[in-house]
Amino acid sequence: MSAGSTAAPARTGRERFPRLELRAGRPVVAVDVGGTLTKTALVDADGEVRAVRSEPTALGSADALLDQIARAVAEAGAGSPDAPLDGPVAPAAVGVHVPGLVDDTRGVVLLAENLGLRDVPLREELRARTGLPVSLGNDARGAGFAEFRMGAARGARTAVVISIGTGIGAAVVVDGHLHDGDGFGCELGHMPLLLPGRDGPARCACGGASCLEQWASAGGVARNYARATGVPVTGAREVFEAAAAGDATAAAVVDDGVDALALAVAQLATVLAPEVVVVAGGLSRAGDALFVPLRERVEAMLTFHRRPRVEPARFGDGAGVIASALRADELLERHRLEAAALAGSPVDGVDGVDGVDGGGW
Ligand SMILES: [Zn+2]
Repeated sequence: MSAGSTAAPARTGRERFPRLELRAGRPVVAVDVGGTLTKTALVDADGEVRAVRSEPTALGSADALLDQIARAVAEAGAGSPDAPLDGPVAPAAVGVHVPGLVDDTRGVVLLAENLGLRDVPLREELRARTGLPVSLGNDARGAGFAEFRMGAARGARTAVVISIGTGIGAAVVVDGHLHDGDGFGCELGHMPLLLPGRDGPARCACGGASCLEQWASAGGVARNYARATGVPVTGAREVFEAAAAGDATAAAVVDDGVDALALAVAQLATVLAPEVVVVAGGLSRAGDALFVPLRERVEAMLTFHRRPRVEPARFGDGAGVIASALRADELLERHRLEAAALAGSPVDGVDGVDGVDGGGW
């Protein structure tokens, strides 16, 4: 595709990228590291997502992954045969999201089993390799940040974004601040949920006896159905379809998943009183088959609580790229504000240490 300014929005897979609302207004490179594929994009100063590329993630060592990201960053700025630019663009920062336990503040990947990473100071290593400031974060928190800034949670001060795929991740924003708990927060998939009179369907990979994701992740729903029937399925979609077609076992498995999710949402509503709970990831594509009973059951569990809106996410597969670009831009904006403050210039008010403006959007 031509990368000219009049070209159609960039696409990767089925994703169509909106123009991103950058605050610093400088080009950035967005990197979304997945367990299988790594996507890279150049986002220009106008917020247009360009030069989107996808390649198999370099697994095996931290060095291999770092080299791959550094090369992708260099190529994104230069354009490439399959993602040409009008001319070379010098990115001002890099945003990276990875799956796993990530201490966003220190820029350290504490544990990413799929990637074979443990205690890797990825942000500093990548800064050394690229010479650019780097923002590093957990992928589910990133996806939530994208929804919070530009998606289904836009305008809220307090919101939860639950990403449901093979597992379950989450982003929690309280009063405009993305909470990370030094890397250990928002691990909603491993919220222990002992449904009344019920054992968990299987022990979780984390060792937990009854974690939310054993009941309600797309992977959990598929496994629970296969375990109950002896019939393997390719994913949760098949189970939802079977339930809609009258398969009582499938309906019971889906029912358990919705119950578990409703319980988690009700607990979040009790503690955080979010204005909105956004459901992202593969399972959100179940549509009304998920959202109608989920809303009903959340409503039935709550009494005096503030009711959160329960909404599907705006962004799909491209959320990681969008999030990485927005976090890189946020980093640049913070640097700009800090530099302006040091120089004694008046700066626009900023509400929140993350540079997340709590009220204006
Ligand atoms: Zn667990």
